[in-house]
Amino acid sequence: MKKVEAVRGMSDILPEEALLWQHLEAEIREAVALYGYREIRTPIVERAELFARGVGEATDIVHKEMYVFPDKKGQMLALRPEATAPVVRAYIEHGLYAKGGVAKLYYIGPMFRYEKPQKGRKRQFHQYGVEALGSLDPALDAEVIDLAWFIMERLGLRREGLFLRLNSIGCPEDRPRYREALREYFLPYREKLCPDCQRRLDENPLRILDCKVPTCMEIAKDAPKSTDYLCEDCRLHFERLLGYLDALDLAYELDPKLVRGLDYYTRTVFELISRDLGAQDALLGGGRYDGLAEALGGPSIPGVGFAGGMERLILVLGKREVGDRCYRIITKPEVYLLPVGEGEVAEVLVDM
Ligand code: AMP
Repeated sequence: MKKVEAVRGMSDILPEEALLWQHLEAEIREAVALYGYREIRTPIVERAELFARGVGEATDIVHKEMYVFPDKKGQMLALRPEATAPVVRAYIEHGLYAKGGVAKLYYIGPMFRYEKPQKGRKRQFHQYGVEALGSLDPALDAEVIDLAWFIMERLGLRREGLFLRLNSIGCPEDRPRYREALREYFLPYREKLCPDCQRRLDENPLRILDCKVPTCMEIAKDAPKSTDYLCEDCRLHFERLLGYLDALDLAYELDPKLVRGLDYYTRTVFELISRDLGAQDALLGGGRYDGLAEALGGPSIPGVGFAGGMERLILVLGKREVGDRCYRIITKPEVYLLPVGEGEVAEVLVDM
């Protein structure tokens, strides 16, 4: 009989490798706890509408990659493709904002996207991520970026092997002017763009900037930069963030093409890239999402965060490098108690 196999793009994590996962998860949990983040666990299944409204209908993640299905009553559900929208939904639903101040939340768990599987790109993959909600201060953006570097260093990745791509895409007030400038720029190239980008040109030309098709990338090289279209507040926010990063001695490369594949981002966007990975080189990505809570029907509360891929971490770290450092994980019993007679069995059970 034909064997039943795992679904394409979804992997088993066998005991040997699971040790490494446990080690990395433990390190990440400890690192984020030191920055004041507390864990939140949200369901793997959400209403599809959450992502259509949160991540954006025209994004690849929602438009092409989301696992969507009706339940028995016909309600459209989705396997979560990312966790920021679910975390913000839970934050609103449970009134976590009522306490005031900044809520610092983190998660680790599986996400699902119907992408073309390849090295470092799965259909079920795992993300760890942080969300800091409740402050517009650029110092919080800087702290979140600092935490990303802190996690990398804790996991044993050298700074020289990584770099930070950074950009500001402004606020919704800046967006129409920038979108118009992009549309004007790309319009003469319409026929040369890939079919997806031809659609993007009408729906959201920003998305053309992160297309990976070589001809589109070539055309996008001289496209207008978002930082040239920032309002005074957004410009100041970015300037102050850069000042904080300099004070923290954190290097960055300004990249006007970085827009990220999710619609909720405002102002700051960033990616931490590994120089040692091939095509799928982004270890983590994030940014500010000041309009997301409101878009999900909540109060207007700003936020900033990032999400990183566990599978990519494992790829860059390799087994050997961390092998010796898996000191936290107890892999086998350290003490054995042997009852020498019938009478001691209960005693041994109690002492265990
Ligand atoms: P995103 O949610 O698209 O901003 O992605 C954040 C991070 O999650 C990326 O930088 C990757 O490390 C990881 N990631 C995203 N999609 C996948 C995937 N399909 N397979 C493995 N890792 C992924």
